Amino acid sequence: MISDFTYLRPGSAKEALQMLSKHQEDGKIICGGQSLLIIMRQGLVTPEYMIDIKRLDELSYIRFDQKKGLRIGATTTHRAIEKSALIKDKYPVLVEMEEKLASIQVRNWGTIGGNLAHADAAGDPAPVLTAMGGSVKVASASGERVIPLDEFYTDLFETAMNHDEMIVEVIVPPRPPKSGTKYQKFNLLDSDQGIVAVAATITLNGRTCKDARIVLGNAATITMRAKEAEKVLIGAALSDAVFEKAGEAAAAECQPVADIHASEEYGRHLIKILTKRMAKAAWEQAKISG
Ligand SMILES: Cc1cc2nc3c(=O)[nH]c(=O)nc-3n(C[C@H](O)[C@H](O)[C@H](O)COP(=O)(O)OP(=O)(O)OC[C@H]3O[C@@H](n4cnc5c(N)ncnc54)[C@H](O)[C@@H]3O)c2cc1C
Repeated sequence: MISDFTYLRPGSAKEALQMLSKHQEDGKIICGGQSLLIIMRQGLVTPEYMIDIKRLDELSYIRFDQKKGLRIGATTTHRAIEKSALIKDKYPVLVEMEEKLASIQVRNWGTIGGNLAHADAAGDPAPVLTAMGGSVKVASASGERVIPLDEFYTDLFETAMNHDEMIVEVIVPPRPPKSGTKYQKFNLLDSDQGIVAVAATITLNGRTCKDARIVLGNAATITMRAKEAEKVLIGAALSDAVFEKAGEAAAAECQPVADIHASEEYGRHLIKILTKRMAKAAWEQAKISG
């Protein structure tokens, strides 16, 4: 049962931020409602004011600039990202990730801003965007700031946003030359959330790994970087033995929470295998990239 609330529909992002500033203690942003309405029905959140930003078209866009990279407005739907020819060309892993996120119905209505703000450790976009060095631009009535995604998640369903802030934009830097990013989640039902997931970015300098990002989904209470695994890869001449070692490092540093789908031990095993595979797949993509 959803408790009563007052519905507010701002006509602009500026007005939404003013409403949020006024109702920062008793209000909540709603966009697609795909996650929020579920937790409201469970009685986990009971906002007195709902600020609906779904129809703010000024926050729905996909833009690319060679120097600045990709910018996606917060109210852009998953489906718009999945179907973007620009993203498919410049950041194909984002399209691959979106194609396996939930159902078409959810992708048609759910938004990238809502997904990232919901802070579910099993969410698909956060590991991929973090592996590519992504950030979110958040705004309040008094200004804007950019938060790197690897600093955005602070605890289970908690972010570094203040109560008067909302995500307005997702930023992904241009892909470095000779780099590749790959992502895979392990799930039993197609398009379901992953039991665990791994995103890997490898950047090469000749045969050596110049930089690496390994990001784990649902392997802790927050989306986490596997920094020990990254250390194994960076500076190494990559080989199956190195990928194996990186997988072992990621399995040792992750903290999967046991649930009805998997024990902690099984979660670690999956992280080991997926890290090994995704790092190798990203390396193969990096070798043939421009
Ligand atoms: C059946 C089902 C299956 C799903 N499967 C997957 C899956 O496989 N992988 C996956 O990643 N996700 C999955 N999801 C989650 C889905 O991707 C998210 O629910 C959706 O993207 C959230 O977007 P929304 O616009 O609906 O957010 P809402 O539900 O409207 O909001 C979610 C939260 O974010 C806040 N919020 C919304 N927009 C902003 C903003 N711009 N700034 C700050 N706070 C904001 C809200 O206050 C709320 O706390 C699934 C959901 C459903 C219902």
